[in-house]
Amino acid sequence: MIAEKKYTKPATIAEALTIAQNYPDDFAYVAGGTDLLVNKYQGNKECSCLIDITGLAELKSVSIDDSHLKIGSLLRLDELQRFEMIGNNFPALVIAAKEVASPMLRKTATIGGNILCENRCSFYNQSEWWREAVGYCLKCDGDVCIATGGKKACFSKFVSDTVPVLISANAKLELCDIDGTTIVNLETIYTGDGIKPRNLRETAILKNVLLPLDNEYEIVFKKLRPREAVDFTSLTTAVSLDKKGNIRIVIGGADPMPVLIEGQVKGSTEDYIKMALAKTRVVDNDYYSRKYRRDMMRVFLEQSFEALLNK
Ligand SMILES: Cc1cc2nc3c(=O)[nH]c(=O)nc-3n(C[C@H](O)[C@H](O)[C@H](O)COP(=O)(O)OP(=O)(O)OC[C@H]3O[C@@H](n4cnc5c(N)ncnc54)[C@H](O)[C@@H]3O)c2cc1C
Repeated sequence: MIAEKKYTKPATIAEALTIAQNYPDDFAYVAGGTDLLVNKYQGNKECSCLIDITGLAELKSVSIDDSHLKIGSLLRLDELQRFEMIGNNFPALVIAAKEVASPMLRKTATIGGNILCENRCSFYNQSEWWREAVGYCLKCDGDVCIATGGKKACFSKFVSDTVPVLISANAKLELCDIDGTTIVNLETIYTGDGIKPRNLRETAILKNVLLPLDNEYEIVFKKLRPREAVDFTSLTTAVSLDKKGNIRIVIGGADPMPVLIEGQVKGSTEDYIKMALAKTRVVDNDYYSRKYRRDMMRVFLEQSFEALLNK
């Protein structure tokens, strides 16, 4: 393991971007550090410069602007519930945030870090000697995916619990980079490739999460995990129904990316469930078996539709 040669704490986004440019492919932004530092000290993510972004005041505000609720990326998961404008408009986001990790971790973990946290797999999130003993998997310099018995693609799973709810509510991200600010739909940043799960430029800084307020959403969130605290997800689902009758189904904790199925309230829920099962690439890389997680996907989606459509 290489100890970082430099730790720096810039005061502005512009300063952070300048430092990042000086360490191409060799730096990491740190927010709460609850994901990044664990990966780093397990030898999964190494770099020689850590850029602590917690001093960037520009990433800390929560406000309503035009027709969006804007949540600064440094808002801690534990703090979400304190903002009435979040709880009143998107109660499912508060519920999802409370389901992440444990109370202590949520006091440090940020929403931005949750959106950008690393994919996981039972063959990857292990100590260096464990990974060496099994011959290393594709995500850590091996030749094949061990979870699938030798495929040449990585199926490490996407594990953020807040993202399914955010995508189900049509969230966008405000990203800052050396050439300015861009706004993108949240679901477009994920690639589906477990090795490089996001298509963002390395230097991009997530400034705000934008949630549209021009529509009303009912959202049902569900999470499967062995213990009610600390454990990562084995399956997360969020299903939204908006005032216009649009349905968004988002599956997390299963495929290398959050899987989105869109439909209309007049469509067949059974068809949507079949589409979700067909589109989600679940492999045996979790505490629970592939079959059990797929069975639970059906159960969660049926329960979610029941709650949304039979009110
Ligand atoms: C024991 C344990 C249990 C956990 N359980 C869960 C769980 O149940 N559900 C879950 O979703 N997660 C879980 N996590 C993972 C992690 O705690 C959360 O995802 C957390 O929200 C990450 O936020 P952070 O601020 O600590 O991110 P960090 O670790 O600081 O960063 C994560 C990644 O995001 C990047 N990043 C962070 N902020 C920005 C930004 N503003 N702009 C650009 N890049 C940025 C970092 O460079 C890094 O690549 C768990 C972690 C542990 C250790």
